[in-house]
Amino acid sequence: MRVSISYPPIESAKGVPLLAQNRQFQYFNEPTYIYPVIPAYAATLLDKSGYDVTWDDAIAERLTLEEYLKRQDFQSPDLIAIETKAPTVKTFWRYIKQFKERWPHTAIALMGDHVTAFPEESLENSPVDYVIAGGDYDFQLLSLANHISKGTPLDPGFWWKEKDGTMRNTGVYQQNNDVNTLPLIDRDLTKWWLYVKNGNFKYEPGTYTMVGRDCWWRNGGGCTFCSWTMTYKKYQVRTPESLLEEVEMLHKRYGIREIFDDTGTFPAGAWLTEFCKGMVERDLAFKIRIGCNMRFGALKEDDYRLMGKAGFRFILYGLESANQKTLDRLQKGTTNQQAWETCQWATKFGMDPHLTIMMGYPWETYEDARNTVEFAKKLFSAGYAETLQATIVIPYPGTMLWHQCKENGWLLTEDYDRYDMREAVMKSSLTREQVKELTQDLYRVFLTPKYMARKVISIRSADDLAFARRGVRYIYGHLKDFAKGSEMRTFSPQ
Ligand code: SF4
Repeated sequence: MRVSISYPPIESAKGVPLLAQNRQFQYFNEPTYIYPVIPAYAATLLDKSGYDVTWDDAIAERLTLEEYLKRQDFQSPDLIAIETKAPTVKTFWRYIKQFKERWPHTAIALMGDHVTAFPEESLENSPVDYVIAGGDYDFQLLSLANHISKGTPLDPGFWWKEKDGTMRNTGVYQQNNDVNTLPLIDRDLTKWWLYVKNGNFKYEPGTYTMVGRDCWWRNGGGCTFCSWTMTYKKYQVRTPESLLEEVEMLHKRYGIREIFDDTGTFPAGAWLTEFCKGMVERDLAFKIRIGCNMRFGALKEDDYRLMGKAGFRFILYGLESANQKTLDRLQKGTTNQQAWETCQWATKFGMDPHLTIMMGYPWETYEDARNTVEFAKKLFSAGYAETLQATIVIPYPGTMLWHQCKENGWLLTEDYDRYDMREAVMKSSLTREQVKELTQDLYRVFLTPKYMARKVISIRSADDLAFARRGVRYIYGHLKDFAKGSEMRTFSPQ
């Protein structure tokens, strides 16, 4: 049986969709391709179970729709599995109609956070064969392939339509599989070379891992805006030893020099200590740099000391807002004091904190948003943050924030195509001009003599120089975006 793990091409004037492995969908003008780690596990697991798997990320391969269709004509898969998010689901409904007309005997499955929240909707609006609700697409796709080829029962979490139009499902997905039974991702099968460059990698080639699913904050309950809280209701993590093995293999076999582990929040406590010690004992520290998502206030100064020794570099923190009332409403569970202290420790031990902030909360005033900008600027001026990304907050359908929007009448539109961070889709007291002014102001921290001087002083190697050059290119790219008058503001100089 042939299975295609697919990202069909999306041709849009808005840019390249950052669809895979991303909790907050957006189009990027500067193409960025993130390794779709869970689908890569799926490809590996299916391959090891004897299925004939093809990796068809037409977005990263920059294929046209025509080229993608011709490739599938040639490969003739029995099953095509497609990951989607809210802003692409309508496009994929149209594609699936076309695909089913062209390949009537090929089963098509949709997966992802959006269809997990609303599985019936895709069955109503497209001739899709299966909708997978739940985030373990790897185990779930194996269950589906076994079902189609051998007639075994499906795991919970599957939705489909009978011939008479009746919808059926196998119940709520339980996330009961043991992630430690998964094989290491087959990087050749999943075309690792497509994903080695990324604005956030200082040392190339870089790659992604994902040791946990997905976030331990509130035991999977998470923040109100986080779309992946729908797909992973509890936190599961592989052993530190298995990640060390993967890091070593990536370094030795593929020459990888930087890894970003995209677990929603990287494991803390004894797990982290063991991993850091293992990096040193295996002589991997600084030969390969590690990045991860972390929460403010989750770790102590000693943890950062250890991470510094283990070669951690890029640490992504969700600042989101500097207003406690907003952090509380988002169930973020952090404070500005924790943010300050955390960034101070991370930089003290050689790491580069990256901040993500959001604007356009329905309850925030212009003064609140300005307060966030000023706080972020202060962190930069103190040298406690290296890079940042600012976006418009989007209430992804199915999240707690989206339900709050429905209850309070905050939604300006329910057209999913517009949930792509190019515009505000929630009512907000901020005007477009104010968002532009605030984000430009924030962006100026990269143009201050102090920041530039710090950057120049920190150049010690060819990697540093190349990274700084890429940063300048990103800054000019964003300046061009501003000139075009686009509403969305996302910027990260590296
Ligand atoms: S801490 Fe980050 S990954 Fe975890 S729920 Fe909040 S936004 Fe999502």
